[in-house]
Amino acid sequence: MQDKEPSPTATAPEAESADVALKHIVDGFLHFHHEVFPQQEELFKKLATAQRPRAMFITCADSRIVPELITHSSPGDLFVTRNVGNVVPPYGQMNGGVSTAIEYAIMALGVHHIIVCGHSDCGAMRAVLNPQSLEKMPTVKAWLRHAEVARTVVEENCHCANEHESMQVLTEENVIAQLQHLRTHPSVASRMASGQLFIHGWIYSIETSEIRAYDAEQDKFLPLDGNHPVPNATPKGRF
Ligand code: ZN
Repeated sequence: MQDKEPSPTATAPEAESADVALKHIVDGFLHFHHEVFPQQEELFKKLATAQRPRAMFITCADSRIVPELITHSSPGDLFVTRNVGNVVPPYGQMNGGVSTAIEYAIMALGVHHIIVCGHSDCGAMRAVLNPQSLEKMPTVKAWLRHAEVARTVVEENCHCANEHESMQVLTEENVIAQLQHLRTHPSVASRMASGQLFIHGWIYSIETSEIRAYDAEQDKFLPLDGNHPVPNATPKGRF
């Protein structure tokens, strides 16, 4: 979500009319159906009756984040759940879509990895920093209460120089908070204790396409650059 008013100097694409917007989507579907699908028919035939995704990917609903594109994945590879602010409500507070998807991914699909992915320039994080902007959006406001823990951590601990830095630290703290919420889900806690499930906290930069990943051992975000072992947010299994 993007809550900024477009500035005259912004390079954001201009809004198109509602008719043109829908035509683009339908034309896109027809292109996929007639051109792309026939080239990958084998894959889709295989996927027609079963899925075995490599990971669950929880990210923001922001249109600029495309999990399959940034991980170069194919249909069937990622079990994706998206919402405003890449939030994971703690277990027991809300039996909503995210909790349901987590339980299904672990129990029915047997995924071994859950990635919580935040991103730069997140409108949800900007709203958490400026709650007065949500006066006319009571549902968004209620949802983003799950990110309030991150705001408190930042407000009370970060000597942030400006809003840009606050946004960056808040985005990191939000990912860490959502990883903690994730661990309150019984299916997650159990599979982590037995060393069968690994959790990851990533932040994707829209501008540079870089990803930084949370490393629990060093308690900081490290670049996901292929030069180091993949940073991991999972404590050691106990069983
Ligand atoms: Zn966002």
